[in-house]
Amino acid sequence: MADIILRGNAVFTGLEDRPFKGAVVISGNKIEKVLRDDDGSAYIGPKTKVTECGDKLIMPGFIDAHVHFFMGSAASSPHVCMDISRSVSEADCVRIIKEFADQHPEEERILGMGWFPAFWNDAPLPTKKSLDAAIPDRPVYLLCADAHSIWTNSKGLEECGIDKNTEVSSGDIPKGEDGEPNGMLIELEAMADALPKLLHFPKETAREMLRGFLAEIAENGITGICDMSPNILNDDTLALYDDLLEADTAGLLSVRVHLYSDLITIDADAKKEKEAARRYCSPMLRYTGLKSFVDGVTSTYTGFLLEPYADRPEFLGDPNYPKEDLERCTRIANEAGFPVRFHCIGDAAVRWGLDIFETTNAAIGNKGNARGLRNTLEHVETLHADDVPRFAKLGVIVSPQPYHLTLDANEKIVRVGPERSRLEWPLRTLLDSGAQMAFSTDYPVVGLNPFRNIYAAITRRDDEGKPTGINPDEKITLSETLKIYTLGSARVYGREAELGTLEEGKLADVIVVDRNLFEIPEFEINSCRVEKTICNGKEVFTRA
Ligand SMILES: [Zn+2]
Repeated sequence: MADIILRGNAVFTGLEDRPFKGAVVISGNKIEKVLRDDDGSAYIGPKTKVTECGDKLIMPGFIDAHVHFFMGSAASSPHVCMDISRSVSEADCVRIIKEFADQHPEEERILGMGWFPAFWNDAPLPTKKSLDAAIPDRPVYLLCADAHSIWTNSKGLEECGIDKNTEVSSGDIPKGEDGEPNGMLIELEAMADALPKLLHFPKETAREMLRGFLAEIAENGITGICDMSPNILNDDTLALYDDLLEADTAGLLSVRVHLYSDLITIDADAKKEKEAARRYCSPMLRYTGLKSFVDGVTSTYTGFLLEPYADRPEFLGDPNYPKEDLERCTRIANEAGFPVRFHCIGDAAVRWGLDIFETTNAAIGNKGNARGLRNTLEHVETLHADDVPRFAKLGVIVSPQPYHLTLDANEKIVRVGPERSRLEWPLRTLLDSGAQMAFSTDYPVVGLNPFRNIYAAITRRDDEGKPTGINPDEKITLSETLKIYTLGSARVYGREAELGTLEEGKLADVIVVDRNLFEIPEFEINSCRVEKTICNGKEVFTRA
């Protein structure tokens, strides 16, 4: 007899293109049966919990293949001000954060996330001057929405030990006219001392933050996630991972978490990574692979392009690391069996990522990805036509965030020009080339809500229904989108045999959406909500 039966008019298994009338029968943590035109009555015992879903959609849980887990946990907590994401100018942002600071005298640092120059009419980057005037007495750290820069004040610079003599080999610590740092920290190396302030909290606070974050994840129907922070595998990071291990051991993890650490700090023997893989290896928590950044983002001209920026002639942007270093580290990781995931925004970064995998594949006897490694390129916002067929050929998975195209499509056209914009976020082109794909939000860059992503992927329109970008032909179908967001993302962590579809014998990660996405006007998808989330056979969320 079953533990749980979900039955109704719309079961989308992910194996076909349309839902059908039927039932999903769950016993323990597995799917026992998926029934067509059958309500599962034969499996109902005295303890079976039956949910009548009617016209609601029963489908596999969403797998968000790229989030910043610990940053996300902070973002969902009351300790970080997210209201600045609605700011329309530097002055507006300062007003909001000052209000937050006044309401939170107990916080020793003032933390915020989500300001974005693209929402400020593309105004110049802000400086410490405005923050110093509003909050002179406590360090302020405000992470940009794209997570590639931090805006801080004088107290923050002081706390991080950054002064006029501080230099970085990648990214930038811009100086003002007086030669002092102006308060912007651009890219990872520059942010190295400031970023941990947004990640590490006292133990009790961290626990309470995790509880809140897990609840939010479950409410969004997400049953699998990849943490793509990527943290350097040191004691600080292991402490963060151990908090998750503790939650897992206590049975509190309500989403499968897959951890990816920093690639560039891997040692020649991959010893730390192998140890992590042994320590975090449960069905709910796994150390999976490594990640690095080939470039930054085009909004701050740190994206790496093949041809100069349209609005900054003769400037290509820079890669974050020498190609040989990325290649050497990739080879070590891949040889040890760990997949590598590269952040690539500009078309030159994408080409580098593909080149690196081509070289390392050849070096380790993995031609055409015969060893089945799950190497990915993240974002792939700009792509040269010559590189399109290489994903399928090399077995490299594309991992874009469809909702991002609604955020800065216009800014993108300004940066790279209309010609290159035709291959911006080229979902259709890549799918047609035979490339495998996974979807994600890059939370907290945007919210966890999967329906925003789905709507953007199938319409290339923003929240208001307005077209974004100049390549509407790159939209894909609803069925394709749902399959990518479930099975496609499961493939990224090599678990497509046990997750990602509704099939007999697979692990029971199943959700119920309040409406049948296949039967409503596209625009309505934006307002859909998850009603029930089952992860590993346990009900982890039910909407009241
Ligand atoms: Zn990211």
